[in-house]
Amino acid sequence: MKPDQKYEEYKMLMGRIADLDFSNAVLGWDQQVYMPKNGAEGRGRQMATLSTLSHELFTSEKLESLLRSLNEDSTLDDSQRFNVQRSLKDVVRKKKYSEAFVSEMALTTSKAFGAWQEARSKRDFKIFEPLLSKIVELKRQEADFLGFEGHPYNALVEDYEPGLRVSKIDEIFDQVKRELFPFTREIATRFKPDTSFLTKTYPKSKQWEFSKRIIEKMGYDFESGRADDAPHPFCTTFAPGDVRITIRSAENEFNMMLFAAIHEAGHALYELGLPQEEHYGLPKGSALSMAFHESQSRFWENSVGRSFSFWKGQYATLQNLFPENLGAVSLESFYRGVNAVEPSFIRVEADELTYHAHIYIRYLIEKALLAKEIEVKDIPAFWNERYQEFLGIRPSHDGEGCLQDVHWSYGSFGYFPTYSFGSFYAAQLHASMKRDVPDFEGKIERGEFNSILKWLREKVHIHGKRYPTDDLLTRVTGEGLNVVHFMNYVREKYAQLK
Ligand code: ZN
Repeated sequence: MKPDQKYEEYKMLMGRIADLDFSNAVLGWDQQVYMPKNGAEGRGRQMATLSTLSHELFTSEKLESLLRSLNEDSTLDDSQRFNVQRSLKDVVRKKKYSEAFVSEMALTTSKAFGAWQEARSKRDFKIFEPLLSKIVELKRQEADFLGFEGHPYNALVEDYEPGLRVSKIDEIFDQVKRELFPFTREIATRFKPDTSFLTKTYPKSKQWEFSKRIIEKMGYDFESGRADDAPHPFCTTFAPGDVRITIRSAENEFNMMLFAAIHEAGHALYELGLPQEEHYGLPKGSALSMAFHESQSRFWENSVGRSFSFWKGQYATLQNLFPENLGAVSLESFYRGVNAVEPSFIRVEADELTYHAHIYIRYLIEKALLAKEIEVKDIPAFWNERYQEFLGIRPSHDGEGCLQDVHWSYGSFGYFPTYSFGSFYAAQLHASMKRDVPDFEGKIERGEFNSILKWLREKVHIHGKRYPTDDLLTRVTGEGLNVVHFMNYVREKYAQLK
């Protein structure tokens, strides 16, 4: 085979793998959005079949030998060489997983998910404890066979932010503890806005009318996506021109639908901006990392959606939709209300500032479990003590404490830091964008988001996985991750909120 034929063959194989994975995504989406309860068993089996087929193709001798030979080929252009090198690295990592390990993990997590749901509703950690202990044991094994330098957590975090290491996460969180936590306490003490108008009755259809208007203005095209209701908001890709979002709403909680819609649309715009047509199923056509994905959603949600300029432009429309609830609430009061800061138990309902304490606590627990410094039975006490220490509150039961998140039941360890890192990346991109885009605040106020989206597309989306996160940040902002941008952002914002 000639070199260019080999590259085409590689593309074809990767395209098939992507076909299987995207088809699986359709089944997963339907499972959460439409599937009747009794479809669960069959669906689980079908999804496992597609995953197995995808895994078999990805770890096949055929793909690996193609990649090894292409890796020696000096005629490839820059994008092709990158795709080949990155795919080879991913194949080598995937091949470290034995079939026995994969099936044991799948079996354990499927049981653990049910146990977690029951434990959470009964507020009883003991129901979840044996299966979570098994999962932690498997994650320790996984770190061992993947291999790591320093801390075993390093092996796992690689799935969510390649190249990120415990030493860096610790350095960043040390700064967060030194600067953000005291700042958060100060704001929570002095800034106590009225939020009562946010819990009046907001009919769902009208909430959606407003949310849809906003995400369309952001550039989310309903010809290339759609939105449905689901118990958990998420974004999922089926094809280069079909990126869906789900949202969650409550009639007496205004914040829930709108900010979830903006957040998920931010994820969707990233997916739609990737060069997926040209590099279908290839690294260059795929999102950089989970953490970087989160920077895109948080940028839109917080830097745009919770800004004063945004509400200055949109508030009159919202007031007209809900005159009884908001007619007597001024723009300033509304803006203060959606930016209230208060320590609370539930991560997904936390504000922009206290949020990072929730993440830090989960990170400490995961790290300690991997290093065998604590065992699963120690989690509830460890959790409650850290909530007291960092947020000044203590959960009254594990349902509002260590049983609230689904991640550990899936075996996702190393994921949580991506939420905080995403916010920090977002603030850094925001600072650069303000310099690059003329009349940035005016554009946000007028709802002219196209130059913002264009900036993200040209500077960030177009590269896919081409550059490691710190390199991409350096290209776009002039430096690697620097939390000072997040601190400047929150200081500036809250200095004006009295
Ligand atoms: Zn997100």
